[in-house]
Amino acid sequence: MTADLAEFARAKNVKYFMISYTDLFGGQRAKLVPAQAIADMQKDGAGFAGFATWLDLTPAHPDMLAVPDPDSVIQLPWKPDVAWVAANCIMDDKEVDQAPRNTLKRLIAEAASDGMHVKTGVEAEFFLISPDGKTISDEYDTASKPCYDQQAVMRRYDVIAEICDHMLALGWGAYQNDHEDANGQFEMNWAFDDALATADKHSFFKFMVKSIAEKHGLRATFMPKPFQGLTGNGCHAHISVWDKAGKTNVFADNAMELGLSAKGKNFLGGIMKHASALAAITNPTVNSYKRINAPRTISGATWAPNTVTWTGNNRTHMVRVPGPGRFELRLPDGAANPYLLQAVIIAAGLDGIRSKADPGKRYDIDMYQHGHTVKGAPKLPLNLLDALREFDKDKSLKAALGEEFSSAYLKLKHQEWNSYASHFTQWERDHTLDI
Ligand code: ADP
Ligand code: MG
Ligand code: MG
Ligand code: MG
Ligand code: MG
Repeated sequence: MTADLAEFARAKNVKYFMISYTDLFGGQRAKLVPAQAIADMQKDGAGFAGFATWLDLTPAHPDMLAVPDPDSVIQLPWKPDVAWVAANCIMDDKEVDQAPRNTLKRLIAEAASDGMHVKTGVEAEFFLISPDGKTISDEYDTASKPCYDQQAVMRRYDVIAEICDHMLALGWGAYQNDHEDANGQFEMNWAFDDALATADKHSFFKFMVKSIAEKHGLRATFMPKPFQGLTGNGCHAHISVWDKAGKTNVFADNAMELGLSAKGKNFLGGIMKHASALAAITNPTVNSYKRINAPRTISGATWAPNTVTWTGNNRTHMVRVPGPGRFELRLPDGAANPYLLQAVIIAAGLDGIRSKADPGKRYDIDMYQHGHTVKGAPKLPLNLLDALREFDKDKSLKAALGEEFSSAYLKLKHQEWNSYASHFTQWERDHTLDI
């Protein structure tokens, strides 16, 4: 990696830089800057009218400057004239606290001050659909149990292999690709990394998948539940904490239950304690709540949790401990903001470690079959409004994420809920017309 973007441009024949920041709703906003102008932009940042994106700002605010982080630069494998670089938002010479990448960087620094180095991996599922967004794109992909469908993944080989080749060329440690549990759905996996690197890769992955799909005349969606009755798009997160140098996994302890150390248990305890509130960030849209709490899909399972419970290697709970030294949070969905997803996990986990939180009883039952036998485990929020209210009630989580961020997020998300609630639907006509 080079610290000097102008030098990077000369070495790689890059003509344009895409200086990109992510807003509160996960939208990636960019300016395309010619290499001739990158030296000044690297110093001063690219100017944006922040209020025109999903940030709680007004037209009266001064310019927001997106200052590129050269460590994140990636030459687009499918368009090498251009390089993408993640940026940090600055206004009046100060970090914009509500900007998601700044929020994550603050939490990473806080973890580091407690001697912790968080490493994560994400599984960002997606559908390949028709360009109009109405149907899946492969008319032969109709099996009632399509998970790992060999024939169907090969019909999309040109798209999937092109993306995987790019991840390999970028050195991400891509290791498997499959057809997932819904018709038209895929998952591609690469190696875990530091939380900030994973968030940048997650953002770039979404950009890349959409771009390659469009190149092939298709459309890719990460929408949590794009089709009724089909399994939704999850974005499971795998989490481990390492020592300051990032060399020793401090979550690993083979003498402990499931190989998870006391520290790992406490971090998990924080996730359990804040689960209903953090759903406002891991499951951030109206549509998210049709993936969790879902009735059975035609494949036989939803693959998504509805209760705050944890377990060993069992896919019916909110948290799974698949092996020693890490756990998997199965709650997040494809709409989760890549930076806020990592930030809220660290915020909840740090609180868990500081307060020595107990994750509670572990259940090894099939939650889909026998969940009714579990007494006292909280249910996840049933809709976005409930989740926002839970988040608003959770003072310590809000404080950990920062007051400016939390109030901006709640304000814009409540506006989104209100817009949804005032929208007239066919359902209400069907159920109310003849009342
Ligand atoms: P599954 O579908 O069984 O949940 P995947 O192989 O699809 O598993 O995804 C596992 C993810 O977990 C990958 O991103 C992988 O790199 C990541 N992972 C593996 N070990 C760790 C670890 N110690 N810490 C954080 N992430 C990890
Ligand atoms: Mg202008
Ligand atoms: Mg997976
Ligand atoms: Mg999956
Ligand atoms: Mg998983």
